[in-house]
Amino acid sequence: MSQDWDAGRLDSDLEGVAFDTLAVRAGQHRTPEGEHGDAMFLTSSYVFRTAADAAARFSGEVAGNVYSRYTNPTVRAFEERIAALEGAEQAVATATGMAAILSVVMSLCSAGDHILVSRSVFGSTISLFEKYFKRFGVEVDYVPLAELSGWDAAIKPNTRLLFVESPSNPLAELVDIAALAEIAHAKGALLVVDNCFCTPALQQPLKLGADIVVHSATKFIDGQGRCMGGVVAGRSAQMKEVVGFLRTAGPTLSPFNAWIFLKGLETLNLRMRAHCASALALAQWLEQQDGVEKVHYAGLESHPQYELAQRQQRGFGAVVSFEVKGGKEGAWRFIDATRLISITANLGDSKTTITHPATTSHGRLAPQEREAAGIRDSLIRIAVGLEDVGDLQADLARGLAAL
Ligand SMILES: *Cc1c(COP(=O)(O)O)cnc(C)c1O
Repeated sequence: MSQDWDAGRLDSDLEGVAFDTLAVRAGQHRTPEGEHGDAMFLTSSYVFRTAADAAARFSGEVAGNVYSRYTNPTVRAFEERIAALEGAEQAVATATGMAAILSVVMSLCSAGDHILVSRSVFGSTISLFEKYFKRFGVEVDYVPLAELSGWDAAIKPNTRLLFVESPSNPLAELVDIAALAEIAHAKGALLVVDNCFCTPALQQPLKLGADIVVHSATKFIDGQGRCMGGVVAGRSAQMKEVVGFLRTAGPTLSPFNAWIFLKGLETLNLRMRAHCASALALAQWLEQQDGVEKVHYAGLESHPQYELAQRQQRGFGAVVSFEVKGGKEGAWRFIDATRLISITANLGDSKTTITHPATTSHGRLAPQEREAAGIRDSLIRIAVGLEDVGDLQADLARGLAAL
């Protein structure tokens, strides 16, 4: 391998290109083999030319790979592509979405700090905050997602982070990210957005003023239900801390999974457009059905935050929730009558999924807590995949017929 090999001749010039081009090409640094596809580096360690070279790389004096817990070329390609798509100065990949959230809090918070979390976040996120961070002296309070005055009032002098998911799961509530970022910054706190449901194809929270974005890459970034992974993206000042924690603690992403995610990103925008189009069509259809009492989808004019969704997002996402007649029994009969859609709580897959939140994802909550969160027994959530929308509608019609 020639040391004076000029990478510039083989890599693409991405100055000023659009999102779709970045999704296909950003982060790819070709090797002297001139491969057209992304190369995969399945290696835990790296060799050095000389003892002096090893010493210089270990000390950081010379940039380069040392060990794959620190850096790996395939993982770095994925990180650079996510940074380009989110408009971040830097991104770092993690073993799972939960490891991304863990790394943000571990690297930016200390005992005595306070975190505000939107009430409707992912179940394991709540467990992480409640069961583990509290044990290390981090205070955590929960705030209803949409009401800005509630956030403002709940901030304390020691509040370090505001953590939100927008849109929320499963009820598709939103928060005005730009306004919330202003509230956080006025009080010296950082805004962290879990952007898993939208992906950068539909929403770029950093461009709206948020400080950090986290993802479960397991969902739409993979898009085909193959691998676990996550990513944190943000400004260099905060990312330096997150990277330091990850390299030391080790919940880093496997290069194999990074390679799968690079392939996933190449089709992200196309897939998200198809997910959104089918979800909107099904939400509109469901809203007209007698057996359906209410549909929760930000792309419907009946949604209280329809205007905000149009302003803040480029699409309304794949997740549609709806309440059916007949309570829990009705919801279970509906789900059991489907023949195509998969009964599973996962989402972000090319295969459409259906779930009953009250007895699965939100089953651990006490009935009053579920009621307060708006998770009724009659609620069903679908995460719309890439099958033919007519076939999906026919399957949901089987559910309606069984009510
Ligand atoms: C799935 C999910 C996570 C956790 O990601 P894993 O990859 O399963 O660890 C976090 N946030 C949201 C919104 C999710 O849907």
